[in-house]
Amino acid sequence: MSTTCSGCPSRPERGRGIWPIAALHNWLNVARMRSGFVATLSMILALALGRPAASVAQAALALPVPPSPTVMRPLPLPVVPPAWSEAIDPLTIDDEDFARHRDPHEWTGLSVRRLIFSDGEINWTVWRIVNEQRRDGPLWVLPHDNENATFDAVLVALHSYGGIAMAIDDRAGRMNYDATSGASVDPNRHFYDAIPLYAGRILADLGDPPRLIIALHTNTPGFDPSLSLCPIAGLGGGGDISIRLCTARYIPHPSLTHPWPFDDDDTVALVPYAVDGDWRTGFCARQLSTAGFNLITERVATSDGSLSNYALFHGLQYINFETRERGSDAVGLANARARLVAMIDRMMTLCGDQQLLALRPVAADKGRR
Ligand SMILES: [Zn+2]
Repeated sequence: MSTTCSGCPSRPERGRGIWPIAALHNWLNVARMRSGFVATLSMILALALGRPAASVAQAALALPVPPSPTVMRPLPLPVVPPAWSEAIDPLTIDDEDFARHRDPHEWTGLSVRRLIFSDGEINWTVWRIVNEQRRDGPLWVLPHDNENATFDAVLVALHSYGGIAMAIDDRAGRMNYDATSGASVDPNRHFYDAIPLYAGRILADLGDPPRLIIALHTNTPGFDPSLSLCPIAGLGGGGDISIRLCTARYIPHPSLTHPWPFDDDDTVALVPYAVDGDWRTGFCARQLSTAGFNLITERVATSDGSLSNYALFHGLQYINFETRERGSDAVGLANARARLVAMIDRMMTLCGDQQLLALRPVAADKGRR
């Protein structure tokens, strides 16, 4: 998630100049919500301020709730011509994701088209999967083609909640390699207003009012301790998303009891919020935290080109579900899929469109775990 997009144009920065105060407020709010976190936070602040940890913790607990965030006028979404596309047969198409799903029952009511387009510099191929009976569900976005459990999970989710899925095809790779230009781009670091043909086509089905965007990912186990402001002895790894990681951007709100699927530090929900705002304004953030999710709130000052940041600056409802990458054998895929689906189900119960929930087929509950 932290891969730098070299060559991506920069965006104008928002909220600059207030970072230290906003950051302090933010950290203290996290501390208030998570008593276990207070000790760690207090030690960090005590070191920084030269005060005893206990008095810093007390000051943290006594701070008032921050004011409501500044209401920003969302940036307009690009209007772009439709991409060239063709209908494909999911039962015969030559692709590793579809090859795992040749049972016709999995495709009942779903249609699939392959979109091929250029954003002006780079060529893209995207699978667009539509629940034809219930188009009015979420917009599901799968940026990384090597994260196979996300594809398996979205087929379950499309039957449960309807909507439209956009899955980027990179021949089973993470990066989008363009043979013509020789460029290699992370599909989740390419959402910039300066590249309207990319964001515009991935989000073309948002509608008015815009539907909820749900992104799905798997991630590398653990995290690089050098990235963390709160390193924990004995914990580490190679990833950059974990409920044990805290940075200026990623603020963890760990589950207190770690029930399945949150017995895994890499299984998290992530929602963005503005740098000068309150994390509780993130989509469903308060409800998820109360419900015992591993929740990461992403505090965004400037866009890193990810869809979460793009959604924030364009006033779109967005949530990202991540789980640990467990490989592509049947057991690993089933494990990761079940965790993603469980988070989706719980979130939809808490914050989803109640009409969609009422229409949910009973059959969708079968074979989840
Ligand atoms: Zn990913």
